[in-house]
Amino acid sequence: MTEVDVVVVGAGLAGLSAARDLTRKGLEVVVLEGRDRVGGRTFDQPLRNGVTVEFGGQWIGPTQDVIASLVDELDLETFPTYVHGEDITFYDGEAIRHTSEDFGLPEKTSAEVVSVWERIEVLAEQVSTASPWTGPEAETYDEMTVATWLRAQTGDELALRFFGMVVPAIFAAEPGEMSMLHFLFYVASGNGLSILAATEGGAQERRVVGGAQAISQRLARELGAAVHLRSGVHAIRHSDSEVRAIHNEGEVAASHIVVAIPPTLAGRISYDPPLPAQRDSLTQQVPAGSVIKVNVGYATPFWRGDGLSGLVLGLDDEFGLVFDNSPPDGTCGVLVAFAEGDHSRHVRAMSEQDRNSLLIDTVTSYFGPKASDPFDIVAVDWSTEQWTRGCYGAHMGSGVWTQYGPALAEPIGRIHWAGTETEQVWNGYMDGAVRSGLRAAAEIVDHQNASSSSRRSIRSRPSL
Ligand SMILES: Cc1cc2nc3c(=O)[nH]c(=O)nc-3n(C[C@H](O)[C@H](O)[C@H](O)COP(=O)(O)OP(=O)(O)OC[C@H]3O[C@@H](n4cnc5c(N)ncnc54)[C@H](O)[C@@H]3O)c2cc1C
Repeated sequence: MTEVDVVVVGAGLAGLSAARDLTRKGLEVVVLEGRDRVGGRTFDQPLRNGVTVEFGGQWIGPTQDVIASLVDELDLETFPTYVHGEDITFYDGEAIRHTSEDFGLPEKTSAEVVSVWERIEVLAEQVSTASPWTGPEAETYDEMTVATWLRAQTGDELALRFFGMVVPAIFAAEPGEMSMLHFLFYVASGNGLSILAATEGGAQERRVVGGAQAISQRLARELGAAVHLRSGVHAIRHSDSEVRAIHNEGEVAASHIVVAIPPTLAGRISYDPPLPAQRDSLTQQVPAGSVIKVNVGYATPFWRGDGLSGLVLGLDDEFGLVFDNSPPDGTCGVLVAFAEGDHSRHVRAMSEQDRNSLLIDTVTSYFGPKASDPFDIVAVDWSTEQWTRGCYGAHMGSGVWTQYGPALAEPIGRIHWAGTETEQVWNGYMDGAVRSGLRAAAEIVDHQNASSSSRRSIRSRPSL
């Protein structure tokens, strides 16, 4: 059995950031990772022509300062997402090209969308990201779904269809699946709906050269032999003095454990003694979204020559969100398409051949016949990934924040919770993941300092 100061479960951005910080503070750390790779929800692969593209998290943007500094520190570079030319909004069989902020919608609908959008921004400003369950309106908004709230705001069917696309585009979940309080919390956590939704000036602004998984790969390189792959943790034994992580390759004893995995997966680990009811009930109710992300490779980014940015918002199609995902030098063209929420569930039920035909038909309706001849189509369905089981992140249904919110990140004895879902700033994003890892590391250091002042050092490891 290995004995260290801290054992970290999960070699995603959260777990690796926690491990790196603790190692730098002189603690001995082991990271246990279920997959045969690091990076978790960031995952990059080459297309058939050798150009690497992202299948998981990829964009970073303004106010995501922690991930931005980490990228710099690791000597990685970023480049701007291609935004030049007209965007397309596609509905009722028509591709509306536009550059304006009206999303290519008719004037009346556009005014309605702007008005609802502004109401969301105002309400989000009133939510505490540190404790969303507090506040005079918390229960009111936690009782209703986003769908209920939206229907009460507008009778404009096209505006509702528009938000019915925007919400899954951000959460990979339907407006009826999450509480309005969660929606407002998430918007506040990302500094506003406009920042969340925007490319230039927003969360989709920049990409990492070589792909965002490189961040985790470099962190893991620094940690060296401390990172153990194919070591999925299935049980945690814990006491006042020690924790033990039991994984498929053995057992690690430590003074503290950081569980840096999505809450639902944390709930699938067996704890001895069992965790308090509040924590267990929470992890039964924090589902992940559902998304299939597909990169489609072309010989050239032909849409650029046609005056298009590559951004499509499709109000009716399964693959209703498309971006230009070409490499920085534009040597080939790549469109990345997302099927989210209900759409992903329809697509998941199809054969690969039918899914690809649907995809080609859809992008052809957006960009014309040149889109019908890609050299490669590669998809990742995150709900079928054993060590993730859904993306982009988790969301909360009605009543969960107000009934169980404090159990999300509060340590239980020597067990500390990390992962993007536990973070109050940029929850759900790579930036939030890194922040959560640093927060968990700080909790351990604080605990260590408090213990040494009461003469119990982190290195004392009495047995269970
Ligand atoms: C398709 C997609 C697109 C996205 N786009 C963006 C984007 O553009 N920008 C952005 O900022 N964010 C984006 N995200 C979200 C972002 O990728 C995540 O927020 C972030 O990577 C989460 O990091 P994490 O460390 O919290 O969790 P994870 O990355 O999920 O890391 C958890 C790790 O734990 C491992 N693990 C799980 N269970 C166990 C166990 N029992 N034992 C051992 N190991 C275990 C997993 O294999 C994984 O490596 C996207 C995500 C997806 C899937």
